[in-house]
Amino acid sequence: MESDVELLGVVDVTDPQELPAGGFSSWLQSTRSAQAGDVGADVPCAGCNACCKASYFIHIRPDETEALALIPEALLFAAPSLPKGNVLMGFDEHGHCPMLIDDACSIYEHRPITCRRFDCRVFPAAGIAASEDHTALITQRARRWKFGYPSEGDRDQHTAVRAAAKFLTKHAECFPNGVPNNSTQLAILAIKVHEVFLEYQDKSGKPERLPPDLEVAQAIIDASERFEARVKSS
Ligand code: SF4
Repeated sequence: MESDVELLGVVDVTDPQELPAGGFSSWLQSTRSAQAGDVGADVPCAGCNACCKASYFIHIRPDETEALALIPEALLFAAPSLPKGNVLMGFDEHGHCPMLIDDACSIYEHRPITCRRFDCRVFPAAGIAASEDHTALITQRARRWKFGYPSEGDRDQHTAVRAAAKFLTKHAECFPNGVPNNSTQLAILAIKVHEVFLEYQDKSGKPERLPPDLEVAQAIIDASERFEARVKSS
């Protein structure tokens, strides 16, 4: 059956108090590099620590010995569905990371890779809200980012990332292993597989009609596997 889904109904997730997020294509390239390796994201946080107050579970890998040495064991628990040794750190009754002390990260130099890679620009990039709570600091902060489009290619790539996020959200049933149910992981997956939707744009960058849903889903699975294979071989 042919999909009736058209590529892209762009969600306006920006705010009048805009923050410059940089050119989209260069941001996308550096974000993909950060996700592919252990380099941190270069985010102009300017003192913002909304992501440390966002009720996020922080994943810490077994080889992150410096972070693990500084975080009390009582704050950690085994990460579901991940190999032994992977742990999660929870948050307090206010949704704050327990390592956030006097409004600053108390282990900043040795903070987990999850924190180093986090970039709340992934939400406006994917056209999804940072959290269901529209009053949450992280949601408000993410809404303020405004990307630049120095070329048509920047716009095409942004369209493709948002189309990927929209497809993943609306067609979870097409994926045997499901899709992430967490907004950060969903946005990052859209960034990893957006190339699929670049192929569904015509020469002028306008969206074309999509192939059947299962065909699109398989192309997304293949693109995700290609990305992860690159990570392993790098
Ligand atoms: S470990 Fe530090 S950077 Fe990471 S969420 Fe906690 S306070 Fe924020």
